[in-house]
Amino acid sequence: MTPTSYIEISESAIETNIDFIHRLIGDQVQYSAVVKGNAYGHGTEIYCPVAYKHGVRHFSVANAEEAVVLKKAVPQQDVTILIMGFIHDSDLEWAIENEIEFYVFEPSRLEAALAAARKVSKPARIHLEVETGMNRTGLERKAFKKALELVEKNKGLLLVKGVCTHLAGAESITNYKRIRDQQKKFKRSLEVLKNHDLDEYHVHMASSAATIRYPKTRFDLVRVGILQYGFFPTEETLVHYLNKEKNFDNPLKRVVSWKTQVMEIKTVKPGEFVGYGTSYFANKATRIAIIPVGYSSGFNRSLSNAGKVLIRGSRLDVIGTVNMNMMAVDITSCPEVEKGDEVVLIGCQGDLEISVSSFGDFSQTINYELLTRLPQSIPRITTK
Ligand SMILES: *Cc1c(COP(=O)(O)O)cnc(C)c1O
Repeated sequence: MTPTSYIEISESAIETNIDFIHRLIGDQVQYSAVVKGNAYGHGTEIYCPVAYKHGVRHFSVANAEEAVVLKKAVPQQDVTILIMGFIHDSDLEWAIENEIEFYVFEPSRLEAALAAARKVSKPARIHLEVETGMNRTGLERKAFKKALELVEKNKGLLLVKGVCTHLAGAESITNYKRIRDQQKKFKRSLEVLKNHDLDEYHVHMASSAATIRYPKTRFDLVRVGILQYGFFPTEETLVHYLNKEKNFDNPLKRVVSWKTQVMEIKTVKPGEFVGYGTSYFANKATRIAIIPVGYSSGFNRSLSNAGKVLIRGSRLDVIGTVNMNMMAVDITSCPEVEKGDEVVLIGCQGDLEISVSSFGDFSQTINYELLTRLPQSIPRITTK
């Protein structure tokens, strides 16, 4: 069946972004590709094999379900999969058996991991997450010390593959003090490790923002999400990077485009309303194109009478309310538009572009939310 709309994933853009990340961190630091939230809406099955092809061997996801999808998408033998968030205790055996690494952020998770490891006679590959001030997940100092003792007593069953923490907002200078405090606290936790004899493990703290802004937080592994998809975490992070480089070209490329086609065209007489209710009044003869995408496919209803789309190289207005599966666009200024014409919802057409952020409410961190909300049901295809 021909899809109503489709999402294009640009392989060359992925390559550009991955090369940028590798150049930025150098070859002493490993890069874990954060692919939670269906690879930030890009599609795990599409994004991850391309990332693999361009040298990525470490992937991080939020939970066990995401790990299952990821595992099928990339070659098994030389890839590390890390679960940073939730796994039910009953899935720990599965994770251990499949050599999937996971965060341990509270004592009972460690006990459960030990029990599961014993059961399957294989070591649990754990990352001890320490609480440094985000106050979300993480072992408090005392629990961290206890965890290390338990690890030492059960060396064959608990394998520490990482010691880590998460920063509470490195993308904004407002949080500067908090980030510096977290760095200090993390350093104190790392000192505790000196008293313990562990095998080789990674130390990691930085996501995209800290990787750019606080190079010292890179240690030997960074967990990079949003940069891979062509976005700086905030405008502020981008400006910081450009000023430092003295090069004012954005080094990243948007990976995603979203396209559909014109479904119907009609002319509305002056004095009529368009769509449900009275939200759009045609005060002159108005030609409209009906587009087969609505809020059920992720085109937010708040874009009623506000959104823009590209058709035949023109930027055109969404008029009336965005319906569940349809919306109307004013094409009066563009008489050559025909049924079947390509409609760009996100991406480029001719010289014009609809960016992901313009698609939202212009607020800075919205890219994350907009991307992950692109419904899984829209087909993704790769392009060069
Ligand atoms: C999402 C996430 C990241 C990646 O964040 P970006 O800002 O997209 O780079 C890193 N670490 C953890 C724990 C995360 O949840």
